[in-house]
Amino acid sequence: MKAIVLHRNGGPEQMKYESIATPEPGPGEVLVRTRAAGVNHVDIDIRNGISGMEGRFPHILGVDAAGEVAKVGAGVTQWKKGDRVAPHFVLSCGTCANCLKGLENICLRFDILGATTWGSYAEYFKVGQHHLVRLPDNLGYDDAVSAYVPFATAWEALITVGKLSAGETVLVNAAGSGVGSAGIQVAKLAGARVITSAGSDTKLKRARAIGADHGINYRKKKIGDATLKLTGGLGVEIALDMVGGDTLKETIKALAPGGRLVTVGAHAGEVVSVDFIEFFRKHISLHGCGRSTKAIAAQVLQLAADGKLKPVIHKRFKLKDAGEAHRLLESRTVFGRLVLNP
Ligand SMILES: [Zn+2]
Repeated sequence: MKAIVLHRNGGPEQMKYESIATPEPGPGEVLVRTRAAGVNHVDIDIRNGISGMEGRFPHILGVDAAGEVAKVGAGVTQWKKGDRVAPHFVLSCGTCANCLKGLENICLRFDILGATTWGSYAEYFKVGQHHLVRLPDNLGYDDAVSAYVPFATAWEALITVGKLSAGETVLVNAAGSGVGSAGIQVAKLAGARVITSAGSDTKLKRARAIGADHGINYRKKKIGDATLKLTGGLGVEIALDMVGGDTLKETIKALAPGGRLVTVGAHAGEVVSVDFIEFFRKHISLHGCGRSTKAIAAQVLQLAADGKLKPVIHKRFKLKDAGEAHRLLESRTVFGRLVLNP
């Protein structure tokens, strides 16, 4: 099969489009033909060797995909050739205490597709039979891969963990990111008022087009002050951050007394000095998450198929041009998802 193969860590030039042996599904495993793969920030971290999850070389990146079952291994009963599927990137063990409770997202012995195993930047990849979610019939592959991780992550953060309810005001940072643009839509669907932040007026304009009520350009205004101004000095009940660094500090300032901060990433600064006085004086709470369950994924895919959540695709690339897609994502001029089509 053709794949983007990494032989060492480094820049996009290390992503080689090569022929490599197609994986053979073992007992209980399923081989999937990739129709669309998403490009994620974590792919760049793994490429650079800074994700903390690096495996062995040669390696194939790609944590998410949509495609169809090409071949099943011995003992696979729930899938057949041609089934339309998406892999759940948390390759859970299926047997630990958390898996048995239906919390496979916090499995105690998991692999991550495209990090600790070969991923979806390839014509084929294999996963265990319980690592797949069925796609709704009327959801295309590009839309499915664009919807899956961003909407499932945003749903888990805002609804499951953040307990967002109708009428609340939400701050969603990084409007142009996959989870940011998804978070705006999930919050609106839940009946919230949405304030969002981004680094350009162009991104904020697009954010308003998908439902954001207010936009803050963080290059012109401080997120904390601007949010307080928009909320009559009160702040927001819930904030979704995936930026970290100084943005996280501003987000804490933006919270109302009793507010909840949910963090799903920290690409702009993973180590942040925070004054915890704010937390106990204002009764604010901090929650971390980032890996949804399969049940949440199935739910958001159905909402996308029903047109209630709209995947935002910035650009499609041929698989061989994956390096170009990485350069574009790193340029931070993207609004929505980058999709690779093998
Ligand atoms: Zn487990």
